[in-house]
Amino acid sequence: MNPLQLNTDVLVIGSGAAGMMAAKAAANEGAKVVLVDKSLVGRGGATILAQMTVAVALGDAEEDNPDIHFEDTMKGSRGMADPDIVRAIVDRGPELILEVEGYGVKWARTPDGKHSQVVAPGHSRKRCVYVDILNTGGATSAGLRKAIWKDDSIERLKNIMITKLVVENGAVVGAVGFAMEQFQPVIIAANAVILATGGLTEIYERNSASANMTGDGFILAAEAGAELRDMEMVQFFPIAHLYPPLVGIDPIMWDPFRYKLGGRLLNGNHEEFMDKYNNEVAGNYTAARDQTTYAIFKEVEAGRGTPHGGAYLDFRMVPEAKLKEAFGPVIDILNKQGVDLTKDMVEVAPMAHFTMGGIRVNTSMETTVPGLFACGELIYGMHGANRLSGNAITETLVTGRIAAEVASKVGRKPASDRLQAELEQELKRLERLWYPREVDKDEVSMLSVKRELQKLMWEGAGPLRTEASLSRALDRLRELGERVEGVALAKQSYYALTLVEKIELIHMLKLSESIIIGALARRESRGAHVRLDYNQSYETAVSTKFQLDASRQWTMQEIPLPELKQPSKGDQ
Ligand SMILES: Cc1cc2nc3c(=O)[nH]c(=O)nc-3n(C[C@H](O)[C@H](O)[C@H](O)COP(=O)(O)OP(=O)(O)OC[C@H]3O[C@@H](n4cnc5c(N)ncnc54)[C@H](O)[C@@H]3O)c2cc1C
Repeated sequence: MNPLQLNTDVLVIGSGAAGMMAAKAAANEGAKVVLVDKSLVGRGGATILAQMTVAVALGDAEEDNPDIHFEDTMKGSRGMADPDIVRAIVDRGPELILEVEGYGVKWARTPDGKHSQVVAPGHSRKRCVYVDILNTGGATSAGLRKAIWKDDSIERLKNIMITKLVVENGAVVGAVGFAMEQFQPVIIAANAVILATGGLTEIYERNSASANMTGDGFILAAEAGAELRDMEMVQFFPIAHLYPPLVGIDPIMWDPFRYKLGGRLLNGNHEEFMDKYNNEVAGNYTAARDQTTYAIFKEVEAGRGTPHGGAYLDFRMVPEAKLKEAFGPVIDILNKQGVDLTKDMVEVAPMAHFTMGGIRVNTSMETTVPGLFACGELIYGMHGANRLSGNAITETLVTGRIAAEVASKVGRKPASDRLQAELEQELKRLERLWYPREVDKDEVSMLSVKRELQKLMWEGAGPLRTEASLSRALDRLRELGERVEGVALAKQSYYALTLVEKIELIHMLKLSESIIIGALARRESRGAHVRLDYNQSYETAVSTKFQLDASRQWTMQEIPLPELKQPSKGDQ
């Protein structure tokens, strides 16, 4: 089939909030933009799932400013965030919230017309704006979709999987991949490429991700020569739903209700326990995610877990009328499934939720490879070892905009023969991956290997880690890699789905390896990275730097970080 060939100023790969914001901002700067996604545009990835909080120092609910937001974020990061990146994001947060409001994102307002802002753990102020208690991500996506749909300078392409960035003379000049329908080859020349492909939490057995969050962008960037940082830093969301099984409920939906109502966490003996770990006062919700995750697992480890291995979440002390007001229609969904929150507790436990490590960028969102930019959950720098609630959506909007402002000014590149040659090579590689020989039936189910991978990563490199668990996981990971190599899959006539599954699995295997290598090297406990065999933190924080060498092996180096700067108000 003839390839789809395009030429553009800015190519944006991934259409969550970061990618859509980048596309719109680049178009506003006068650039011609192509926006591609392996799912539907503006409907795949994490953004559409995001629930409530977007942290910006608007100061509508109480006195606040970006300096205080900066301090809270740096403190929350356990000494690991990059102060320049944090500064770049918090300073422009308020501006971006107002910009997307102009695109139709209707942030909730108080009766006197101000933005409604709530406090979330780790933020010292009422700072989080929201649209709706469970649908802020969906509403943000809808506003951005409307804005890019109206813009003729943005070409939107769905169901296109980008598999390789093309590098010529050390700079990225475009990308190649395929349209999933009919396996049509795709080749896109661009002056600048912005990666916005989101996180990798699908690697874990218990995760809040959509199935397509397989970390492709980290691999695309690393294969193009970019540097990654702190891949072992994965955030675990502490109070994800565990039991009883519920239909039509997002597993992490309990969080916004705790912001509103408090809600107690109890161990299997029905005792409150958070005060032992961080002095959280009964019924309040002040502990950060890393602290609550740690506390729940320690209770389980001590034999005080709930029957299914978590903690109880209890709203029974909240008056029924208040429960109904806060939960709205959700209370009926729960009631229909036999959960009456005035009488019943539910079991909750941590699940993988967010990728805190990622591609190293500077404050212009330039990666270490010229012509290649990154934004959103894909980048490293904002969160360190612990992300504060609401800081992710702010990160997507601000970094998407910054990347676009700089990328749209990259000068025109001369036509390159390299793209065509790379496409031919890439197609051969993909066909070898897909069906090294013709088979009627997949020789191995990629889904079953993925399930094994998710289980081994959860058990070996999940919230609690040891040298032994990590080493075992690394051995098993390498065995899985060997099992996948050379496997032939049935070639469907219409959709290249089995190929997509195999590429995603190969990416997940490689990224899992980076998580384990980093976690083994980091002989300390810090934030979300808990080593049961090293419970102290290093005196000087380090960042782990990852690169892929010519034989596609990770090289890893530990970089000492400067002392955490604690600026006073007004200190830039
Ligand atoms: C359940 C849930 C609730 C959350 N709630 C909140 C919250 O309340 N507040 C908050 O701040 N954060 C929240 N987060 C985190 C936040 O939603 C994400 O960090 C953020 O939306 C990431 O946006 P993004 O644009 O970087 O990536 P995504 O929204 O994940 O988009 C990435 C896109 O890239 C595409 N893609 C990937 N690989 C390829 C490829 N090879 N080729 C083409 N396309 C590709 C994907 O299909 C996807 O559409 C939540 C996350 C989850 C999962």
